[in-house]
Amino acid sequence: MLNDPTLVLNRSWVAITTTTVWSALGLVCRGAAKVIEPETCITHDLRSWSDLRPKDGEPSIRTVRSSIRVPEIIVLTEHDSPPRRSVPFSRRNLYRRDGYRCQYCGKGQSAAELSIDHVVPRSRGGRTTWDNCVLSCIPCNVKKGSRLLNEAGMSLVAPPGKPVWSPCLLVNKANRRPSWMQFVSDAYWGVELEHDD
Ligand SMILES: [Zn+2]
Repeated sequence: MLNDPTLVLNRSWVAITTTTVWSALGLVCRGAAKVIEPETCITHDLRSWSDLRPKDGEPSIRTVRSSIRVPEIIVLTEHDSPPRRSVPFSRRNLYRRDGYRCQYCGKGQSAAELSIDHVVPRSRGGRTTWDNCVLSCIPCNVKKGSRLLNEAGMSLVAPPGKPVWSPCLLVNKANRRPSWMQFVSDAYWGVELEHDD
């Protein structure tokens, strides 16, 4: 449980990253962060957070004297880290953006059955960029060959573009806490990361 994720907000209450429950408690101990009570958005230092009783059935952290609630969200009190806005162009991030679906026929596939296709083929001057690369299944890849979309009579399910970064991208779907929803854009809530490598 101490390795479970905690969402980290900067001083402006913008979600910037995630950390472990253990590290979050360390930051709160040092006074570098406060815990946000998910139900009320009231902030707590370690003392007032320890005074809150864990709810029945809720996981808690046992200490020598009592048990304390798991900090699910913290807000930094020190230097203001700007939110990260850029997603590096990488194979893994492209798979994430396209949700493991062929962008020509829309079918979901395993990573092994997909490849990265240049919409405008490299042989025709197409570049390796967010807006020219999409996932394609093998049959669609073969069908398109080195033709342009209109030449092949094919179309894309969505225009490709550079994704916006979100701290949710750091955490598998199953580990995202419902309490984070108020601080994380809906668009990322359902992002599928099950095939992470
Ligand atoms: Zn396809």
